[in-house]
Order: sequence, then C-alpha cells, then structure tokens
Amino acid sequence: MEKYHHVVIGAGINGSCTAFQLAKRGTKVLLLEKFLLPHSRGSSHGQSRGIRKAYPDPFFTALMEEAYKEWEDIEKKTGVKLIKKTGLLCFAENKNIKFINDTIDSFKKVPGAQNTVYNSKQLREKFPCVRLGKSALGCYDPSGGVIFADKALKCIQDLCKEYGVVIKDGEDVEDIKHNSNSVHISTTSGSRFTAQSCVICPGPWGGPLLAKLGYQVPLKPVKIPVYY
Ligand SMILES: Cc1cc2nc3c(=O)[nH]c(=O)nc-3n(C[C@H](O)[C@H](O)[C@H](O)COP(=O)(O)OP(=O)(O)OC[C@H]3O[C@@H](n4cnc5c(N)ncnc54)[C@H](O)[C@@H]3O)c2cc1C
Repeated sequence: MEKYHHVVIGAGINGSCTAFQLAKRGTKVLLLEKFLLPHSRGSSHGQSRGIRKAYPDPFFTALMEEAYKEWEDIEKKTGVKLIKKTGLLCFAENKNIKFINDTIDSFKKVPGAQNTVYNSKQLREKFPCVRLGKSALGCYDPSGGVIFADKALKCIQDLCKEYGVVIKDGEDVEDIKHNSNSVHISTTSGSRFTAQSCVICPGPWGGPLLAKLGYQVPLKPVKIPVYY
C-alpha cells in the first residue's frame, strides 16, 4: 500500500491546483485521475474560459484578487502566457437589477479590486455598440479576460510533477474509507493508497462518489445556454 500525506481525487483544474498548492507546502501528494490524461470528459478542458473579478458575491471577488496573483506566479514559473486581459463589461437594462448592484457592491467591499461604474449616458458614450435603455447601469472590470484553459491545466500539472506530485491516471477511485488518523482509497484497477487526508475534486462525478461516503449532495446537471 503506497503512503502519502494527501491524496487528491480528480485531475481537473481544481484537483490539479489543490495538488500543486499542497506540494508547494512540502508535502507528499498523490493525484488520481480516472481517465487517461489529457482528456476532454470533465469540465476543465477547452481553449478558453472567462476570468474576472466581477462577481455578485464579494467572496469570489476577494478570491480572484488572490487567484490573479497565483496565475501571474504560474506564468512566471512556466514562461507560458495564460491570461489575456480584454476587460469585461457587466450591464443591466434596469439600474434596479440585483445582479448589477451586487456586482458593484462586491468591488466596494474588496480593497484593491478596480472597476468603473457607468450610468446609461456614460454607457452609450463609452460603448456605443451596446444599445441599452435610459435606466441602464454598467460595471467595467478591467481585469476581466480569457484564461487559456488547456494550457493552464497543462502548466499546473507540469508544475505538480516539478514539485514532486505523483500523478496516476487511469485510476478510477471506487471507495474511500477513513478513520480519525488516515484515509484509505481503492480504485477499480485494484490499487490501494493511504494518506493523512484526501481532497475530493471529481467535478460532475461528485454525487455518486460522495454518496459512497454517506453524503447526499443534491447535485443536478442543468443545461445552460451560452450565447456568442
Ligand atoms: C462549457 C463550460 C464553460 C465554462 N465557462 C467558464 C468560464 O468562462 N469561466 C469559469 O471560471 N468557469 C467556467 N466553467 C466552469 C469551469 O470550467 C469548471 O468550474 C472547472 O473546470 C471545474 O473543474 P473541476 O476540476 O472541478 O472539474 P473537472 O474538470 O470535471 O475535473 C474533475 C476530474 O475528476 C475526475 N474524476 C471524477 N471522478 C473520479 C474518480 N472516481 N476517480 C478519479 N478521478 C475522478 C474526472 O475524470 C475529471 O478529470 C465552464 C464550464 C463549462 C463546462
């Protein structure tokens, strides 16, 4: 049975970043992935994802302050450009809409997070291509842009290896047993691992895996229309 300080389950962006952060702190980490890497069957693949500080919940705006610093550090460490800042405009047709007001409030609550608020007249002048009514309200986030998702995942996994993370793909975790001192993990291929702790990052597979631990998380796949 192989022994580690931490086992991370799922090598999407969340699991890979978790493994990297744990290894940076000098611990012995195992990252387990059920599919062969790289793969396109989770959520983290693809050329790009939007990145921003503009969120209606200030928790995320504050988190992104930290996240941008981490990504800059990763860009420096790997020499790969991962973020293209384009700026991001959030707007609502009506200035009373909760989303836009909460987003503006989030910036107020997080010192250092830059933004510009535009009333409808300013929006028309600054962004003539966006035609909104007289009651419109906008919030411009200069940090907003695109993160190159596939490249980011590869960079993180490369850094994981550099910092000593053992990555095992093709290992589908089927059971997790734990007591007060340790966690025992078994996979469908018959591998067994033990660690002081386990971080579960299985993305959309979370429901069935957590159910085995006795946690019923009400996860439900929903269809989200994306417009370009
Ligand atoms: C189309 C689309 C557009 C999006 N746009 C944005 C955006 O613009 N901006 C943004 O911030 N976010 C966006 N997101 C969300 C973002 O991509 C996800 O939040 C993120 O990728 C989730 O990463 P994850 O690591 O949690 O999950 P995943 O990438 O799904 O990784 C989970 C991993 O766990 C593995 N796994 C599962 N079960 C087991 C098991 N039993 N044993 C071993 N391994 C297991 C899976 O194979 C998978 O590799 C978007 C998502 C999608 C799908």
